[in-house]
Amino acid sequence: MKLFGRYSKIAGLTLMALAFSASLFAAGWVHVAPADKGFDIIKNIGSGNESYTRFGEVVILQGGDNFSDEVQKTPDVESFAKRDDEHLYLLTTKDPAMFNYVFPGARVVWSGFGMKVLLAGEVAAINLISKSSPFTKVELLPENQTILTAETICKKAGKAEPDEISNFLDLLDMQTFFSDLEKMVAVKTRYSYVDGAQNAIELCAKEFAGLNIPCEQVAFNIGSKKVNNLVATIKGSDEKNYGEVLVVGHLDSTSENPRYDAPGADDNGSGSAGVLALARMLKKSGLEPKATIRFVLFLGEEQGLYGSKAYVRNLNSEDKAKIKAVLNLDMIGFDAADPLSIMLETNSFNRPMVEKMQELAEKYAEFTIRTSFSAWGSDHAPFLQQRIPAVLTIESEYSSNPNYHKTTDIIESINPNLCENILRLNAATMFIYAVNP
Ligand SMILES: [Zn+2]
Repeated sequence: MKLFGRYSKIAGLTLMALAFSASLFAAGWVHVAPADKGFDIIKNIGSGNESYTRFGEVVILQGGDNFSDEVQKTPDVESFAKRDDEHLYLLTTKDPAMFNYVFPGARVVWSGFGMKVLLAGEVAAINLISKSSPFTKVELLPENQTILTAETICKKAGKAEPDEISNFLDLLDMQTFFSDLEKMVAVKTRYSYVDGAQNAIELCAKEFAGLNIPCEQVAFNIGSKKVNNLVATIKGSDEKNYGEVLVVGHLDSTSENPRYDAPGADDNGSGSAGVLALARMLKKSGLEPKATIRFVLFLGEEQGLYGSKAYVRNLNSEDKAKIKAVLNLDMIGFDAADPLSIMLETNSFNRPMVEKMQELAEKYAEFTIRTSFSAWGSDHAPFLQQRIPAVLTIESEYSSNPNYHKTTDIIESINPNLCENILRLNAATMFIYAVNP
């Protein structure tokens, strides 16, 4: 009871703060339009008082009565009258319970890619905000910006001349990736509260040691449970100029029976084996990176990003400034619907990094790609909160993965092509930030 009282008070205060900052907007109309048409409408008939928020191929428009009369004449536009007490909220989540949840009293304006835009009055908003967690973010809908980019098709050019990056990418060994993944899954469970998690950490420590990469276990707590992150480091030859690059993923897993059976092949054996794969490539290349590279495997992600939060908490301001890029690999193996598709996730201050990654993807990978600028719910978030450039690479179908947090998350449901292409993108990014910047 006490706990509940405390949380609803927090939710209430947050709501008051949100509602206050939202009170500038009058009641009016909300429209969901195809993006190209929506931008045309603003340009042609807007008075300058309208706002837009882009989600890929659609744009959400807000405006007054005159504007709305015109917009509603346009085909393919869905319109919502906004009551006086209603505001638009953006919910961003990695929690599947939230994908299907029906928020009482709130109207869904748009949803997709782990995000929902909802119109909610005060009571509905209290419920909405009470769902906030390390995996779910609720905020007033940001305006006049792109939250999700349109889809871009990447087709690694067979015609392109080999270059130093493609030569490096040729070293990616998918067979070893899968044997690493098999070893992780064979631990049975990597649930942070049981021995399996530590066994998996030691298994990976052995692999790094076999590669001659020094690594250490760094202890932290999940409540009263003491566990370890694994940090393997290759010192850069010119760290002074090029700083540090982090390649990270969470090694822990969960399921409906987590103490005994949590294979976590996709979530996140795939990303963890991916971290190892990039380390193996670097060793095989014989190249000496200019930046220091840290390969980090976190525990405690599934309980609320404990491992990455502990890592970031241990950084002083000098350490933080040194980090030029964080690549977070989480769920890189599920793709049921053609074509292969992935998502990058970051915050808008880190646009230059995703733009570089987008360029690399177009040249060296094969999938469709989009970027979300609403980062939440995985190990890149604690870094971004400290304004450290970090990008999550993730399968774009994560919100429809039927094996998510289940005992059925096994290797057989992994798509090797998706893993390979996401790893190519991460390896190319590591190359241009750390190996030969
Ligand atoms: Zn995960």
